[in-house]
Amino acid sequence: MVFLATAVSDARLEKSDDPSSKIHEEDVTSTTVYGSHWAAQDIPRFDMPSDEMPPKVAYKLIKDELALDGNPVLNLASFVTTYMEEEVEKLMAENMSKNFIDYEEYPMTCEIQNRCVSMIARLFNAPMDNPTQESLGCSTIGSSEAIILACLAMKRRWQLKRKEEGKDASQPNLVMGANVQVCWEKAVRYLEIEPRYVYCTEDCYVMTPEEAVELVDENTIGVAAILGSTYTGHYEDVKTLNDLLEKKNQELGLNVPIHVDAASGGFVAPFVKPELEWDFRLPLVASINASGHKYGLCYAGIGWCIWRSPEFLPKDLIFNINYLGADQASFTLNFSKGAAHVIAQYYILIRLGKKGFRSIMANLTRTADHLAEALVDTGYFKILSEGNGFGLPLVAFKLNSKRHYDEFDIAAKLRERGWIIPAYTMAPNAQSVKLCRVVIREDFSRSRCELLIKDLMAAVHHLDKLDHETIKLQRPSAKQHWNKLRNIARVTFHRTNHAGEHEPSGNQLPDKTAGVC
Ligand SMILES: *Cc1c(COP(=O)(O)O)cnc(C)c1O
Repeated sequence: MVFLATAVSDARLEKSDDPSSKIHEEDVTSTTVYGSHWAAQDIPRFDMPSDEMPPKVAYKLIKDELALDGNPVLNLASFVTTYMEEEVEKLMAENMSKNFIDYEEYPMTCEIQNRCVSMIARLFNAPMDNPTQESLGCSTIGSSEAIILACLAMKRRWQLKRKEEGKDASQPNLVMGANVQVCWEKAVRYLEIEPRYVYCTEDCYVMTPEEAVELVDENTIGVAAILGSTYTGHYEDVKTLNDLLEKKNQELGLNVPIHVDAASGGFVAPFVKPELEWDFRLPLVASINASGHKYGLCYAGIGWCIWRSPEFLPKDLIFNINYLGADQASFTLNFSKGAAHVIAQYYILIRLGKKGFRSIMANLTRTADHLAEALVDTGYFKILSEGNGFGLPLVAFKLNSKRHYDEFDIAAKLRERGWIIPAYTMAPNAQSVKLCRVVIREDFSRSRCELLIKDLMAAVHHLDKLDHETIKLQRPSAKQHWNKLRNIARVTFHRTNHAGEHEPSGNQLPDKTAGVC
């Protein structure tokens, strides 16, 4: 954007003890921001400044600071949407001032949320009594909030049943794979639920249904299955889990439900693999979350939680806001939030329709397959993700033999070109496996893919030429870089290893960047 001469004067030339004199009528002169005193002094960092500054100066100073951020388009670490059409951006800007929770004032926004819930529930094959039935679910800030709410519902439902049976309800546990996204660890810690992990191995990176069901007992509030592992994009086998769990429930007289974490896969699988049974078609699936801001194709700030039927969402967790009648139920962790993202999701759903989603997701899957093939053809890499639409459209890869550099060195080299690709180690107990991951998003077209392949090969050829000592010398800066990324992402999580000890992952940098998603 061209910055026109702004309304600021060379106020630093004015010698006056009166602070208010810094901004003068003469501010209306012809210099640019960079000729003003604001450009000659550091930007306020700690104390709120005592004086105002003109809006154009504030805008330009902050915009310039943000130039040091990475380029979202080249950020292949993240599942989160970086492209939306102009029309929806306009719609979002027009609705930026609405508070979503003000149902009474903004009844149409609320109605739009309910329409999204109904559409997404039907996409996930929720059982319906009639075609106009409203579904049970809510918008959230993202899958993390949705997952915390779903855990809360599972825990409360289990507690009520235990109390009804006169049994102890103080030791709830939740079964999941060690490849879960960090929000699951948050959920169980915040809600005081014992996590029971199915650990990964050197050649299996997901939860196997057999092992999961093995861990289930009378204190299990639910089993979490992931449709699209953050690490490798694999879809966990929800169908087999459902069948085995049905048997176990029968044997032990339990009714343990399944929650599917479809943060990434919820808007992919229905279009790319419609025949895959992972959703409410399976009788034990009680709730599903999906991130509207991942393959739901909205900007960051929207997620969804859908329940199969009211029996899975205990009434005492729901707060009824009776402005618009009994239907206006509220189940969220926060009160106020922006309405624009909910409206944006509705735009995406009706603008693209199933056909539009199918075209986009098919393209992404094709691009992922092409990238995987090209990487194998280089002779350097081995692919760890699943192709042909059997997993998320991403490519997880590692070097196919031991070399004097590793996946972290490659990621650091690519960063010099602007590409942001995470290198990380696999989930517990497969941490010896190092890998890189490229997430294929809507705006990652085939031509951008070709550029990446070229730069990736330039990176390995460069590293091939360096000796081990030189690479080692360069590493501390790479490590600092990853440290910084982690700090920015505020990823401070602990994993419980198989011995049951907590390991602060911060000690192992740069090995853990899997939180970058
Ligand atoms: C991204 C992700 C989450 C967290 O979702 P947010 O929408 O970022 O809160 C949870 N689970 C899985 C599998 C994910 O990929």
